[in-house]
Amino acid sequence: MTLLSISDLTVHHGQLRAVDGLNLDLEKGEVLAIIGANGAGKSTLLRALAGLNPPTSGSIRLCGRDITRLPAYKRVSEGIALVPEGRRLFHSLTVEENLLTGAYRRRPGPWTVTRVYELFPWMSDRRRQNASQLSGGEQQSVAIGRALLANPDLLLIDELSLGLAPVIVRRIYEVLPGIVGAGTTALIVEQDVSQAMRVADRVHCLLEGRSVLEGRPRDLTAEQVEHAYFGIG
Ligand code: ATP
Repeated sequence: MTLLSISDLTVHHGQLRAVDGLNLDLEKGEVLAIIGANGAGKSTLLRALAGLNPPTSGSIRLCGRDITRLPAYKRVSEGIALVPEGRRLFHSLTVEENLLTGAYRRRPGPWTVTRVYELFPWMSDRRRQNASQLSGGEQQSVAIGRALLANPDLLLIDELSLGLAPVIVRRIYEVLPGIVGAGTTALIVEQDVSQAMRVADRVHCLLEGRSVLEGRPRDLTAEQVEHAYFGIG
């Protein structure tokens, strides 16, 4: 079943076409990774899906419903939750309080604070600590838990691994099957291409706002990916 359908989507920043006539479909239960060089339009796409960057033209459909013009707060109720670049936790709040901010517009579904603690067992022991005391990887995990508490159909994660040590990134990605297994579909922006190829069912490579390569990692050669990433040929 198609969960997300993006047709001919264009998003501008002033005169700049950051996303340029993009078409992309996402099946329920899939993990789709968006790769591409700095400035390719990955974050702009995710922010457009979350309702934070209004499109100039084109459409976004979630479960067949046109959500192109819905404001961000209504998209949470429709089933989209974003883990933003830089995590954006409330540093003066505890781990658990941060998680609960995600439950503000909670939909019915499997995710509860207890279930998030099952996903990240260390979190329960540290639930009363301030978010400011956490490492970058721990903060990213709390940001993911917070997004899950809205019970989204579609979880958007921007720059999951940015600034984190590879071993931490691997540990965070280990929870992805548990997330998808609970019925949540994931669309991730990943600047680490080999990481994206390991964890995703499918990848789209963006170049100057356009999708220049799409496919399952096992069907793509390293050369194809490299050419698409750097815009060669
Ligand atoms: P990065 O990995 O560097 O975040 P990205 O692929 O996520 O790159 P975007 O952040 O979506 O790319 O940026 C796409 C283009 O839009 C870039 O040229 C960027 O400079 C520009 N851009 C992004 N945000 C804004 C903004 N708020 N105002 C003006 N231009 C912007």
